[in-house]
Amino acid sequence: MSETSIKTKALSGEDLFKNVISHSKEYGFIFPSSEIYDGLSAVYDYGQNGMELKKNIREYWWKSMVLLNENIVGIDAAIFMHPTTWKASGHVDAFSDPLIDNKDSKKRYRADVLIENAMAKVEEKIEKEVEKARKRFENFDEAMYRSTNPRVVEYQKKIDETNARFKTALDAADMDALRQIIVDLEIACEVSGSRNWTDVRQFNLMFATQLGSVAESASTIYLRPETAQGIFVNFLNVQKTGRMKIPFGIAQTGKAFRNEIVARQFIFRMREFEQMEMQFFIRPGTQKEWYEHWKTARMKWHASLGLGESNYRFHDHIKLAHYADAACDIEFKFPFGFKELEGIHSRTDFDLANHEKHSGKKLQYFDPELNESYVPYVVETSIGLDRMFLAVLSNAYTEETLEDGSERVVLRIPPVLAPVKAAIFPLLNKDGLPEKAREVMDLLKYDHICVCEEKDAIGKRYRRQDAIGTPYCITVDHQTLEDNTVTIRERDSMKQERVAISALADIIEGRVNMKSLLQKL
Ligand code: ATP
Repeated sequence: MSETSIKTKALSGEDLFKNVISHSKEYGFIFPSSEIYDGLSAVYDYGQNGMELKKNIREYWWKSMVLLNENIVGIDAAIFMHPTTWKASGHVDAFSDPLIDNKDSKKRYRADVLIENAMAKVEEKIEKEVEKARKRFENFDEAMYRSTNPRVVEYQKKIDETNARFKTALDAADMDALRQIIVDLEIACEVSGSRNWTDVRQFNLMFATQLGSVAESASTIYLRPETAQGIFVNFLNVQKTGRMKIPFGIAQTGKAFRNEIVARQFIFRMREFEQMEMQFFIRPGTQKEWYEHWKTARMKWHASLGLGESNYRFHDHIKLAHYADAACDIEFKFPFGFKELEGIHSRTDFDLANHEKHSGKKLQYFDPELNESYVPYVVETSIGLDRMFLAVLSNAYTEETLEDGSERVVLRIPPVLAPVKAAIFPLLNKDGLPEKAREVMDLLKYDHICVCEEKDAIGKRYRRQDAIGTPYCITVDHQTLEDNTVTIRERDSMKQERVAISALADIIEGRVNMKSLLQKL
């Protein structure tokens, strides 16, 4: 069967998202947490295939940071940290989201998200007008159209004015002003349809718990809301023991916890999630060039996975976080639209300087070239592992109709990330074929996760592997017993070829090898 005879079903938006969610449960990628008790809101467990995919994404990120950069090393800090850490980092005072309730539906929203979504809708209207005009006019001058068409100009004015008010309100933490924007934009609740809103209140996202067994002597500590602070408090330990010279980076992957107000988008926004963060310590004054460097490097990392370059875009922050002098997101086109996947932040000396202040310990670097000590500046890259997982999975999920009219669901996951790399099938469950299949399995299993399946017709076995994204299916038949060859079928094209068993390891390695992707970075 040729690839051109495969018809891909056009799926997008809600339909795609719904199917991805149910598929990931049905095929062992993601389960609701403690499902037998009806689950726990915004908490999920990774199943047998999900944890492999997640591990592979983590490994690809880790290698791109720690293996490829001699001046980046990794650490694994504890989730619990001294409570003063979070005072110094600003999280106790400023890590909160503005929430608002609709009085009729009782549904809770993030006030800033309501405004952002309303603005995104206006932006969509502009893009629609532009696209319509592009089709209508030959030699279409887009810049001219955007600056002169009365409707587009009106929409743009609304966006600019709202953004300016939005920024002022956020900067001043003025909750009444935020509410007024929601009222003025006539935003309605998606459930009740009413505009009957409560006041906007600030809500701290950190989970607190008690350390110590005796209530009176126990002290409040937090589950870390980001992994970055574990890196900052270890800055001098790593610099000294690793004899690191600026510029250098510290990478870390691990769990983070946020009591998110609105957590409705599957693993996009969870209360327990995993981050992959890298803090790059630099000389003050060089932050602009390093910020640009890491923006480019991170976009290249994404592009190398082949999820489609038009599915990514940069989005500059209009409101900078309390620690940043420049910040942007790498957004990905999820089934529910372009949303933040990764953040790149120029954090200045905010964190180290504040830890110096609160701990009374010097957190400075002596720069031998300048012959002076200073608190380094930091550029951070911070990506959510679960969001990356969702990006890969939703991009991979494809429903197809084949030439013979049959249908399949295939996960076109980049082969380096696929949970299972090869499935080995004895054609029949007799005549010594299962034993021969085991031999093939033994040949491959030390390097890759492989499965050997004897049950069901071969077509069914193919479908099961397509559904979890296995790039190769290898069939052992009677001819194998005679000449030690097998057929190998490639997942996406479904093309089959006959190859010698002795060539299998190289063929598979050639396609699933991380090295060849890393070499492109
Ligand atoms: P958002 O605006 O979506 O709440 P954020 O700007 O607060 O995200 P950061 O603090 O910059 O996010 O965290 C870095 C990365 O961690 C994000 O780009 C995202 O991929 C991931 N992340 C943050 N919060 C969550 C969450 N609740 N669930 C899953 N991933 C998350």
